[in-house]
Amino acid sequence: MSELYFPYKFPRPGQLEVAQKIVDSYRKGAKLMVEAPNGFGKTSSALSAAYHVATEYGAGVIYAVRTKREADRVLQEAKLFSDNFSIKVSAMLSMSDGCLLRKDEVAKVEDELLPTYCLTHTMSKRCRYYERLSSAEALAWNQFESLAAVLNYAKLNRFCPYMYSKRLSAASQIIVTTYNHILDMERFETLKAVRENWREWLLICDEAHNIPELAYTLNSRTISKGDAEAAYNYALSRRNYSAASVASMLIDLFRHQKAGKSEQMLSLKGFDNLAFKDKLRIVSSPSLPPAFDIFETRMQLSFMKFLEFCKYLAFSIDREDCRCYLINKERGPLLKISQLSYDIAIIRNSFRSLVYLSATLGITLNDFESYSVAKMWSPACLTLVDGSVTTAYSSRSEEMFRMIAARIVNIRRILKGPIVVFFTSYDVLHKVHNSLLENLQTRYLVEERSMGVAEQDGIIDSLMRHKDGLLLAVAGGKFSEGEDYRAGSLRCAVVTGLPLPTPSLELSERLKYIASITNKKQAYESLILVPALNKVVQSAGRVVRNQIKKGVVILMYKRFLQRRIKELMPFWLKSKLFHIDCSDIIQLQKIIGNTE
Ligand code: SF4
Repeated sequence: MSELYFPYKFPRPGQLEVAQKIVDSYRKGAKLMVEAPNGFGKTSSALSAAYHVATEYGAGVIYAVRTKREADRVLQEAKLFSDNFSIKVSAMLSMSDGCLLRKDEVAKVEDELLPTYCLTHTMSKRCRYYERLSSAEALAWNQFESLAAVLNYAKLNRFCPYMYSKRLSAASQIIVTTYNHILDMERFETLKAVRENWREWLLICDEAHNIPELAYTLNSRTISKGDAEAAYNYALSRRNYSAASVASMLIDLFRHQKAGKSEQMLSLKGFDNLAFKDKLRIVSSPSLPPAFDIFETRMQLSFMKFLEFCKYLAFSIDREDCRCYLINKERGPLLKISQLSYDIAIIRNSFRSLVYLSATLGITLNDFESYSVAKMWSPACLTLVDGSVTTAYSSRSEEMFRMIAARIVNIRRILKGPIVVFFTSYDVLHKVHNSLLENLQTRYLVEERSMGVAEQDGIIDSLMRHKDGLLLAVAGGKFSEGEDYRAGSLRCAVVTGLPLPTPSLELSERLKYIASITNKKQAYESLILVPALNKVVQSAGRVVRNQIKKGVVILMYKRFLQRRIKELMPFWLKSKLFHIDCSDIIQLQKIIGNTE
C-alpha cells in the first residue's frame, strides 16, 4: 500500500495524522468526528485521505460543504493533488444554480419545484439547453477550479450546467457538493442515482456543525394561501377531484388564522382520517406531471408546489415529530410543515464511512469515534472580552448602538490592518453603521443579505487592499465561515453579542421536543447556545491561521464572561483571554497597540 501523499513540504503538526485517521476509519467502515481549529488545514488533510481512498480502494468520495465558496476552496486545493494522481474531481451544481431555462421564464419558478419543472420540460423536449447536451463540448471531460467556471463553460456553449455537472460527477471519483444534496432527501436520491456502489463510498462533511440546522431548514415545506387556491382551481379545471378536495382542505386551514397572530400551531389531527389519507396518497404518489402550457405556467407552478407540499404532508401526518404552523408573512399567510428532529441515520447508513470535520462541532453522536488536534496544533490568538456592552433584545437602544460604534472607532484607531466586525443580525449591523457614520468620515464596507459570490470577492479585495479597511458583517453570514481573507491576513475580528435565534413558536416547539427526549438543559444548549457560540467561534476563527502570527479577537458582550460559555469555547480562544473596556483608548493601546 502506498504512503499518503501530502501536497505541502512541511505539513502542520497533526495534518498527516488526521489524513491517516480518515483512511483508517474508511478501512474499518467506521464513523469519525475530527475537531480541528480554523487555519489548521482540514481541507488538505481530508483531500489527502480522499485521494488515498480513491486510489488504493477504488472507492468514490463525496466532499460536502456548506457554501459555494467553500466548494471552490476544495476544488482549488484539489489542483495541488492533480499532478500526482489520475483521479477525476468534479463539482455537483444545485439545480437552482444550474438551471438555465428557468432564468428565461417570466414567472418565478421556486427552487423546490425545479425537479418537476425540469422533468416536464425534458420529457416534452422543451428545454433547448438539455437538447444541446449532445454537443462535443458537453461530452468533453474538464476539471474545473470553481463552480462559476462550470457554469460559465456550460452557459458559453448553451447547454444545461446542472446536467453537465451531473455527467461530470458520474465520471468522477471525488465529487464536491453543497450539503443540500446530502440533507434534502430528494436531492440525495438524485445524487445517488449518478453512481452505483454507494455503500463503498466515503462521505466527508466539512464544517459539520451546520448539519442539524440545515437539515431542519431543508426538511420543511411551505405553501401560501395563494398557491393553495390556484392549485384548487387548476385541479378542478383538470377534473382531478382528489387533488381539488385536498387543496380545499388546505384552504380551509387558512380560515383558522387569528387576527394579530404572526404564527400559530395547527393540529394535523383533522387530517387523520382514512378518506383524507386515501386522497392524499393518490395526490402525492409519484406520477408524471402535465406538460407545461405557457399560458398556464403560474397555475401549474402553484399546482406543483401543492403536490410537493402534499408529498411532505403524507410523510408527516402520522409522525410524532412533525408540526404544522400557520405563519403570517408580509406577502400573505403560509402553511408550514416541519420535522423537529432530522434522522441522520439516513445518511449514516448510505455510506461505508462518514467523516465530520469542524472547528466547533458541538454535536454529540454516540457511534462516532472522535479525534481532536487541539493538543498538537493551537493557533496564536489574543482574546479580549468587553463586558460593558450588550446586544440583548431588551437592552437595544440608540445609546447602546452608539456605545458599540464608539468602541469600534477606538479599535480602528489603535490597530493597523484589516478588521471585521461581526453583528448578531443585519438589523443591529445597520443601526451601528448609522452611528459610525455620525462618528467618523471613513467608508465602511458592509455585508448585504443578498450579495452574490462576485460581490463578496469585491468586498474582500477592497478590505485587504487598504490597511485601514473595516468590514461590517453578520455572524453566521457570508463572511464568517469558509472565508480565509486572502490566506489569513485579517488582523482583528470583533464579535458584538451572541447571535441567539429569534424566539418563535417553531423554536419553542423544537425545544420542547428535544427536551422530551433528552432534558431542558441539553435542548437549550443544542438548539440555542451551541449554534450561537459556533457562529461566534467561526467568526473569531477568521483571524487565526498559524501559530506565530497572533490574531486579535474582541468579544463584546457580558455573557462571554459566563462560566458555561467559557467552558464551551475552544482552547485556542480562551487560552489568552483578558478583560478590557474598549472605551478606554489608553488601555486598548497598552494591550493591543503593539501586537503583531
Ligand atoms: S435540463 Fe437543465 S436547463 Fe433544462 S430544465 Fe432541466 S435543469 Fe433546467
